[in-house]
Amino acid sequence: MSITQAEALYRLQEIDLILVQTQKRLIEIDTALGERGTVTAAEGEVQAAQTHLKPLQTRSRNLEFEIQSNTTKMRQADETLYGGRVRNPKELQDLQNEIQSLKKRNMELEDSLLEFMVEVEAGEATLAARQAALKAALAAWEAEHVHLLDEQAKLKQGQPDVLKRRQQALVDVSPDSLKMYQSLKPRKHNQPVALLVNQSCSFCRVEQDLAIIKDTRAGQKLTTCLSCGRILAYRSG
Ligand SMILES: [Zn+2]
Repeated sequence: MSITQAEALYRLQEIDLILVQTQKRLIEIDTALGERGTVTAAEGEVQAAQTHLKPLQTRSRNLEFEIQSNTTKMRQADETLYGGRVRNPKELQDLQNEIQSLKKRNMELEDSLLEFMVEVEAGEATLAARQAALKAALAAWEAEHVHLLDEQAKLKQGQPDVLKRRQQALVDVSPDSLKMYQSLKPRKHNQPVALLVNQSCSFCRVEQDLAIIKDTRAGQKLTTCLSCGRILAYRSG
C-alpha cells in the first residue's frame, strides 16, 4: 500500500527530529565533558584556604621556636645565677635582669602564639571542609563523566541505524515534496510537517477550512496549514 507524500514527509520529519536531537545532545555532552566548572571552583577554594593558612602556620612555628629558645636562655641564665660561679653583684644583677626580660618577652610571645593558634585552627577547619567539598565535586564530576561517556557512545552507535531509516524513508518521497520540505524546514524549527487531527493543525491547533481538510484527506497534493503554513499530513489508520 502506497502512502501519501504528506505521510512520507511526516515519517521523514520524525527521523530528522531524532537526528537533530541526537546532534544537539552530542554537542551538549562534548561541552559538558570539556567543562570542569564545579571542580575548578572547588580547587580554587582549597588553594585560597592554603594560601591563607600557610603564613599563619609559619608565624606560629616561628613563635614556638622563639619561645623555646628564650626558655633555654632563661634556664642557662638561671643555672649561672644559682650555680655559684658568678659572685660579682653587677653580673648577678645583669643575669636577673636578663631572666626578667626573657620572661616578659615570652609572656608576650605566648599571647601572640595563642591568637595565632586560634587562627590556625580556624584556617585548618576551613581547609578540611574545602578539601571535602573538592573531593565530593570530583566524585560527582567523575560519576557524571562516566554517565556522559556512556550516553555519547550509545548515541553514536545508534546513528548509522537512524541514517539507514532515513534513506528508506526517502524512497517514498518525491523530489518536489523533498524540495518543499527542505525549504520549509529551517523556517519551521525543523518541523515543517504537522498532522491534521480532526479538523485542526496538530502544531498550531487552528481549525482548517473545508477545502484544505478535503484535500489533505484525499492526499493527492500537498496542503499547508492556513495559519502556520506547515504541510498537513492525514493519517487514516
Ligand atoms: Zn498550523
